[in-house]
Amino acid sequence: MSHEHGHTCGNCGDHECSASQRRNDESAAEFAERQKLESSLCRIRHKIVVMSGKGGVGKSTVAVNLATALMLAGKRVGLLDVDIHGPSVPTMLGLENEQLRQDENGLLPAEIGDLKVMSLGFLLQDQDQAVIWRGPMKMGAIKQFLKDVYWGDLDYLIIDSPPGTGDEPLSVCQLITDLDGAVIVTTPQKVAAVDVRKSVTFCHQLKVPVLGIVENMSGFACPKCGEVTPILSSGGGRRIAEDMGVPFLGAIPMDIQVAQACDNGQAFIHHYAASPTAGILRDIIAPIIALDDAVATSSGVPSPSTQENAMRFAIPLADGKLTPHFGHCAAFALLDVDPVGKIVLGRQDVDAPPHEPGLLPHWLGERGVTRIIAGGMGQRARDLFIERGIEVTVGAPRETPEKLVADFLAGTLQTGENACDH
Ligand code: ADP
Repeated sequence: MSHEHGHTCGNCGDHECSASQRRNDESAAEFAERQKLESSLCRIRHKIVVMSGKGGVGKSTVAVNLATALMLAGKRVGLLDVDIHGPSVPTMLGLENEQLRQDENGLLPAEIGDLKVMSLGFLLQDQDQAVIWRGPMKMGAIKQFLKDVYWGDLDYLIIDSPPGTGDEPLSVCQLITDLDGAVIVTTPQKVAAVDVRKSVTFCHQLKVPVLGIVENMSGFACPKCGEVTPILSSGGGRRIAEDMGVPFLGAIPMDIQVAQACDNGQAFIHHYAASPTAGILRDIIAPIIALDDAVATSSGVPSPSTQENAMRFAIPLADGKLTPHFGHCAAFALLDVDPVGKIVLGRQDVDAPPHEPGLLPHWLGERGVTRIIAGGMGQRARDLFIERGIEVTVGAPRETPEKLVADFLAGTLQTGENACDH
């Protein structure tokens, strides 16, 4: 199958493609349907299914945050929720009232910023409705969502699959023949171990690569000090990953803000970007972002920069957003950007040093910062930064670091007055 963007079967010259020829065993209608499915999937560079052995382990939470994090990193992302019996993505993203829409291209996904979302939940009139589906109906519904939703060109499609190893994950894996792989979510205790092993074996049998295991609810993150206390026995996910020879992507603690964000219909990683748990999530998705960077490099698209020419932005933070109190902020978000591809490569949040006049230019310089985006700053501090070769943008609004950097890179950052707090 071709991975060129923008192609449809009608104008694609790839005669090797499995969708170019009708098979002996398929009718004209079946062929047309398969061609439609493959031409839709052909425009999506990476397809990743998020699975779990059982329900309630945080699979949808991981899927939503993975998709949002990829979007924040500048990728074009779709999130497809095919959890037929418990579609929770609409609730988690505040899309409960979303109605299914369509135009001549097909069913239209809902859009939150640059994230495209489609859920079986959009089909249900009321959230309490129980859906009774027979096996073939489930397969049909999933196929329809892959074939008839107009995703357009995407870098990633993240699929939130129902738990277990039944009909629905089987349909996903059979319909998408070029899945990049599965992320398997589990909780740390022993009872979850049997199920996660089944999920890994399921992937092996279907020849779907396991991108890795995520251990969720791994200890409790204290909302006051951030210290993680083990509650369920921990380390189960890591042990199984080692045992079964698949990557371990990381452990996410139980965090009240994660639960709150889900209940409030907000993507945690976006709205609580400065929290330590968000940092953990970003580490977990790093190998998944790297999948696209590897493709971009091999296809001649400029590769992520080397250390020498990378840009590092510093943004003073309060409650996850820029604070105008530059000199007295509690933390800085440091975002690394590839200047050629103009994509955010990663972010880390660091506590600010104790307040001491004249310290910050040295302190941020030592940390490799090349540009500051601030609400306000005194002239003397600005001069000190400029002397160190650090550029400063002032008058930026109270937004998340990702939004500020994205706007800056796009040349659309709106700056107002230098809101200096001194
Ligand atoms: P699944 O998709 O596996 O059924 P969900 O993602 O729907 O699980 O999560 C179940 C519940 O647990 C949700 O209410 C979610 O907010 C909560 N949850 C998931 N992960 C965490 C976490 N790390 N900390 C706190 N709550 C969590």
